[in-house]
Amino acid sequence: MKVADNLIHIKQHISQACQKVNRSPDEVKLIAVTKYVSTERAKEALTAGIVNLGENRDEGLLAKWEELGDKPLWHFIGTLQTRKVKNIIDKVEYIHSLDRISLAEEINKRAGKKIKCLVQVNVSQEESKHGLAPEYVVDFIKDLRPYENISIEGLMTMAPLTDDEEQLRNCFRTLNELRQQIRNFNLDYAPCTELSMGMSNDFEIAIEEGATMIRIGTALVGEAGEEEKR
Ligand SMILES: *Cc1c(COP(=O)(O)O)cnc(C)c1O
Repeated sequence: MKVADNLIHIKQHISQACQKVNRSPDEVKLIAVTKYVSTERAKEALTAGIVNLGENRDEGLLAKWEELGDKPLWHFIGTLQTRKVKNIIDKVEYIHSLDRISLAEEINKRAGKKIKCLVQVNVSQEESKHGLAPEYVVDFIKDLRPYENISIEGLMTMAPLTDDEEQLRNCFRTLNELRQQIRNFNLDYAPCTELSMGMSNDFEIAIEEGATMIRIGTALVGEAGEEEKR
């Protein structure tokens, strides 16, 4: 499938989900996750009108950066090793995976300007997933005050791999409530307006529960091997 065709389909679903809960589709930023696909395919996504690209490894991001540069807005969505921060810091618009003070320290040290970060929360508390347990998030964000190059724009989560709609909904709702809790503190360095949640299988539910950023790979640009199939 062409990215442009997938995009039409996904935009329809975004609209429908927004309509259901009286939101405007303009409130939902679509991030095309290109980690499975080639630079060519990422380019196709840009041609189709996509602006935001997401990568979960520094190698993947740097390889595509070689060709695409800062034409797209880059989102770093994967686990970030502290020693890799310097490789990506001046290339990304957002880091979605801040989950520890040592990482904040390194970002703060390497950044030449304010870096927009999201705190990754492991709402479902699956061991395989990264991120802070919900009960630590408030204290963690309060501890970030000294890092003047870090702006906490919101929260990010990955929902459990399940078709159970209630379970997904609860996960997204918990993240939204946590965001509200943080916003109530009115911290100048943590406006916390964004909710990065929802992937190919669950983005409609995420939108119904308040997502402002959805991260879509498979359903939009395809998975590994997609290009050979075309
Ligand atoms: C791979 C990935 C996605 C996209 O997943 P799809 O199911 O292919 O849409 C979203 N977020 C993160 C953090 C990812 O690693």
